[in-house]
Amino acid sequence: MVNKTIQNFDELIEEVKTYIVKEENLNIIRNAYQYASEKHANQFRKSGEPYIVHILQVAYILAQLKTGPKTIAAGLLHDVIEDCAVTKEEFVERFGEEVYTLVESVTKIGNLKFNDEKEYQAHNHRKIMIAMAKDIRVILIKLVDRLHNMRTLQFMSEEKQKKIASETLEVYAPIAHRLGISEIKNELEDHAFYYLKKENYYEIARLVEMKKTERDSQVNLMLKEISDLLTANNIKFRIFGRSKHLYSIYKKMTKKQKRFEEILDLLAIRIITDTDSACYEILGHIHAKYVPIPGRFKDYIAVPKVNLYRSLHTTIMSVGNIFEVQIRTEDMDIVAEKGIAAHWRYKEGNGSKEVDQKQIEDQLAWFKEFSNMVGEVHDNALDYMNLMTNDIFEANVYVMSPKGKIVALPNGACPIDFAYRIHTEVGHKMVGATINGAICSINTPLKTGDVVDIKTSNNSNGPSEDWLKIVVTSHARNKIRAYFQKIDFERKSQDVKKGEEILKEELIKRGFEVSTYFETKKIESVGSALGCNSYVDLMYAIANKSLTAVSVVEKLTKQKVNIVRQEDALKIFNRLDRAKGRKKNAVGIKVPGIDTVKITLSSCCTPIPSDEIVGYISKGMGIKVHRSDCPNIKNEKTRLIPLEWEEEVIDHEFEVKLKILSTDRNHLLTDIVNTISQNKATMLYIETKVQTDKINVITKINVIVRGNSQLSTLLSNLRKISSVKEVQRIVQ
Ligand code: MN
Repeated sequence: MVNKTIQNFDELIEEVKTYIVKEENLNIIRNAYQYASEKHANQFRKSGEPYIVHILQVAYILAQLKTGPKTIAAGLLHDVIEDCAVTKEEFVERFGEEVYTLVESVTKIGNLKFNDEKEYQAHNHRKIMIAMAKDIRVILIKLVDRLHNMRTLQFMSEEKQKKIASETLEVYAPIAHRLGISEIKNELEDHAFYYLKKENYYEIARLVEMKKTERDSQVNLMLKEISDLLTANNIKFRIFGRSKHLYSIYKKMTKKQKRFEEILDLLAIRIITDTDSACYEILGHIHAKYVPIPGRFKDYIAVPKVNLYRSLHTTIMSVGNIFEVQIRTEDMDIVAEKGIAAHWRYKEGNGSKEVDQKQIEDQLAWFKEFSNMVGEVHDNALDYMNLMTNDIFEANVYVMSPKGKIVALPNGACPIDFAYRIHTEVGHKMVGATINGAICSINTPLKTGDVVDIKTSNNSNGPSEDWLKIVVTSHARNKIRAYFQKIDFERKSQDVKKGEEILKEELIKRGFEVSTYFETKKIESVGSALGCNSYVDLMYAIANKSLTAVSVVEKLTKQKVNIVRQEDALKIFNRLDRAKGRKKNAVGIKVPGIDTVKITLSSCCTPIPSDEIVGYISKGMGIKVHRSDCPNIKNEKTRLIPLEWEEEVIDHEFEVKLKILSTDRNHLLTDIVNTISQNKATMLYIETKVQTDKINVITKINVIVRGNSQLSTLLSNLRKISSVKEVQRIVQ
């Protein structure tokens, strides 16, 4: 791209006309220019130039990239919403929704404030990505706007220069690189480098200049030799030396710890020809004449880089000098310079933005991932930025699936990283991997060109926590973490259910209405008083016995629960009970710590084996056994003792009281009495009362059963009687 400053609209149109000729399309651009120049009239940039110069320049660079008329129009209008208080209605009426959306997106990105605080910064960078991923044209306009701003940054304050330069280096240059627009990327990097590290910049520039004459003569010699060689073989070509841009030299020196001489020793030559096969032919001639350095040949024609870059690379030696040689076609060269913009050069009369966007996403596999990743929810903006920089911008190891899918991964990535990039489930079900057909351990670092095959199994136990230490991509790490969070969540929700059951049982056991007390809000406030942050935490604590259900019930009902500790109960017992030693426990109830005591079952709630029970220590009457939910003992504070049924209770008879609700009909009582006798229970009492509604009947019966199983069979048979709605044990 020529860094040429145009002075007027005619120069812009001249550039545009090299690929756009239809009047209707040119008119879109003319219209936009006219509007922009009206709106920006009397506005000036920091440089003192009229504002329209910036606008023209942005549009001019977009035209050099051969973007479509709407993109150029949006380029001309990119600052009007921001700077000229133009309303949406006015804009849309003149230029339509599509151009408006482009300009609005560009404006939004511009409005994101750049902040020094890292988290905040990451947050903004993420917003930039999201805004841009929706439409690649927005990226192009924003990149070009940034490029011109970088070219004219000298007019800003030093503070602003540093801020804008570091944002350029962290966000915009990597995007340009990933889109393969290397000419914009290189220029952005060198400008930013200048403002951020002036001393280093000048030092490298000086060294390059100093060596220039010497290097030029070496390169020129080589150019002549190769030209002669190719001409002799009747090959069409053009050849030139090329220089590295300053920031890339600096990066190599700092990252790879090399001296300047080592980097500059590499002399670079590029050969452009007309066909793919000519590229290989040229390579053959060069390798025949010069000594290639082993391991340095790369075939990006057969296996393009993820940013669509294609070329042959080789490094050769000649009379003590080392030359890097790139061989490619004209088309490949345009792609190498303009990247995505080259693939997307505007062709008049066809294409729509949806088709273009889809085409680009199809060609740039990483762009799809990029769009997907910006869509995913990340709790933390810094995590997200790490993922973008690490997994996408710094990916430079290219590996393949057996089906030929190319995946770009950062240095040090292993088959697990690869598996998660293929698909989350492939990662979760991975049990092993082969690299280039050989079985390997799953933490083997991958190299460019490796063919990686992931072995999965439906019986796999899922990812292991050790994987978190092995993987290098944020993508894989996030997926593995999410997996464990899910497992954790499932385990926790089971515990929550268990906690709820325990708490409900405890409420029932203590004679409290579950519906009154079991209420999320109440429970939560109790939870926070007990040091649990949430409902879930509280239930979890109950299930895992770090909190007793009793303590929760007490807080919840604001009542002390009525069971005294066993040793206290025994003291009370000794003090009160004069019936001690009279009769051995005869009903199959254990009284912990006491062998002989008179025990009677209370007649109000008539407990039977397997009911939860407590003992009431009566004065001189031994222990009265109540069901723990019996309302008659609910308020008893000091005289209750824990009791348990003997493991086997046989040959004891228990009286129970039942209440049957049914609608009235003939022979109802006969059916009830028959059912009782069929179940071999003894009936002691029966009464029946028609309710005031004249429809329902309540029948109360007292029966003797020999234990819990007989009772439950009886209850279920009573419930089967026609017109019976409900059968309950009652407490009086
Ligand atoms: Mn601008």
